[in-house]
Amino acid sequence: MSATAKSGAPVSGAGFPDNAIEIEGLTKIYGGTKTALKDISLTIPRGRFFGLLGPNGAGKSTLINILAGLVKKTSGRVSIWDNDVDRDERNARCAIGVVPQELNLDPFFSPREALEVQAGMYGVPKAERRTMEILEHVGLADKADAYSRTLSGGMRRRLLVAKAMVHTPPILVLDEPTAGVDIELRKQLWDYVRTLNARGTTVVLTTHYLEEAQELCDDIAIINEGTLVACEPTATLLRRLDSKSLSLRVTDSLESLPPSLTALGAEIRDAHTINLCYRPSDTQIDRILTAVREAGLTIVDLTTEETDLEDIFLQLTSKKRVG
Ligand code: ADP
Ligand code: MG
Repeated sequence: MSATAKSGAPVSGAGFPDNAIEIEGLTKIYGGTKTALKDISLTIPRGRFFGLLGPNGAGKSTLINILAGLVKKTSGRVSIWDNDVDRDERNARCAIGVVPQELNLDPFFSPREALEVQAGMYGVPKAERRTMEILEHVGLADKADAYSRTLSGGMRRRLLVAKAMVHTPPILVLDEPTAGVDIELRKQLWDYVRTLNARGTTVVLTTHYLEEAQELCDDIAIINEGTLVACEPTATLLRRLDSKSLSLRVTDSLESLPPSLTALGAEIRDAHTINLCYRPSDTQIDRILTAVREAGLTIVDLTTEETDLEDIFLQLTSKKRVG
């Protein structure tokens, strides 16, 4: 589903760019030697809930920090809400709220003060500030006047989300936001971010958890070792994941398999083992087991394996190298 069709999101409108973020040929080399991003091109349409997925060290934070203006790119073009970050740095910065991976908070400010200071930095007039409303959304209203240093890791993370939202940016970027946030509050955080997205905020989220990305994101881009290896709608990506392998040990000595099993893709691995790859979405494991029993075979053991993120990275990166 296109996020622009979500209820409440601006479907069209003068002054709204089609793309929230446009990245072309982005490369980052740290200290002249360490290549963290290699020629990344990526377009994030307005209104999307976009996931940037990759293992630790892939380059996710580097990319986010370039968007945030915290890291200087080596080469390439980055445009945020139609503002080139080199030519229109101020407007680019105003269009984006970034929740960094590091919990960098001033320990002596209360959440209320932290938000007021942030709002001041962005020039938000006092009358337009929504400090308490934002704190409520992130579940910190009762901590409004507590010192930030007394907040738990999860509360600090949520305070950073609140800070990123004070200037009501059309784009919210969250770098590994659930690290250290417990399950209940994670849900609350996601409810808030989902609501923002439903109202039209473009959300970019980095994570190394496939499950988190698949649950939340309309589109997922995968980076690995600084290279973009996939960028597609979540449903398309998940179809690639719709594959399980099943290994069955049987008491019988196998010489050949009946057609009912070969039709399901079964193969003999050794005299007592059958291997089979199947798609859980269209083949029920029960159907396979019934076919095995109907063939007169007796199962002694069975193992299944799912394709996991590591497998996809491997598949995608090896495919990329071949292609
Ligand atoms: P991710 O957020 O996906 O875990 P990062 O963007 O933090 O990845 O890091 C990408 C690569 O760049 C890693 O190999 C990391 O060690 C390296 N890196 C990150 N920051 C710096 C830095 N300031 N100086 C040198 N190398 C860095
Ligand atoms: Mg990171």
